[in-house]
Amino acid sequence: MKEHIYSIPLSEALEQNCGCILCILEKKLEQQAVDYFLGASMMEPDSREVTNKKGFCRRHMTELFNKKNRLSLALTLETHIQELEKKVCVHKKAGVFSKDSTALLTASSLDEISRSCALCDKLNKEMDCAAGNLSYMWSVEKGFRERFESFEGLCLEHTALAIKMCDKELSGKKKDEYISMLIKKQKEKLSKLYENLHGFTLSFDYRNANKELSQDEKESVENAVKHLTKYM
Ligand SMILES: [Zn+2]
Ligand SMILES: [Zn+2]
Repeated sequence: MKEHIYSIPLSEALEQNCGCILCILEKKLEQQAVDYFLGASMMEPDSREVTNKKGFCRRHMTELFNKKNRLSLALTLETHIQELEKKVCVHKKAGVFSKDSTALLTASSLDEISRSCALCDKLNKEMDCAAGNLSYMWSVEKGFRERFESFEGLCLEHTALAIKMCDKELSGKKKDEYISMLIKKQKEKLSKLYENLHGFTLSFDYRNANKELSQDEKESVENAVKHLTKYM
């Protein structure tokens, strides 16, 4: 039996009745992960090994920095930077006929170091599991399914994740039905976003100067950005 540890958090996110439930859950898990890396992680050698090796991406470094727990962050970065110092080196071209030059090999090794993120890795693993749990909840809980389907659905990125992660949870007709439902909801959402953006851009035409915009039209740009990028 597979574990479905995100069933309750998903039901709670559904109760909030505002937008993509995987975005709501991700926000919560992200904050928990930030607290974890500034707290419990400090005492766990396995976790320290990961943070020493991977560090954090720009988004998560900013989140950690904004928590104002300077000592925890200093201790984490201190050993991370110590490890980087050992790792940073010139990566020589393998041979005269090798395609990759020393410059490209060295740059790409630095690139890899600067982009890796212990927090993204942890969060992505949790979100993969949560997205799998979502398809499970949809298939076994009638009430959850009806409520989920009565809402707007998921943002673009989480639609992709939900479809990918249903692969091991559902099978046959049920899987096809789930995928079709998510795609249908995505199309409906995109069409609504288009209409609202169109209404908004038309309002800049002097011929529409007196036309009152609806709330959805007023918020069309931020809603589109949120739908396409998860963040806003
Ligand atoms: Zn989302
Ligand atoms: Zn990150």
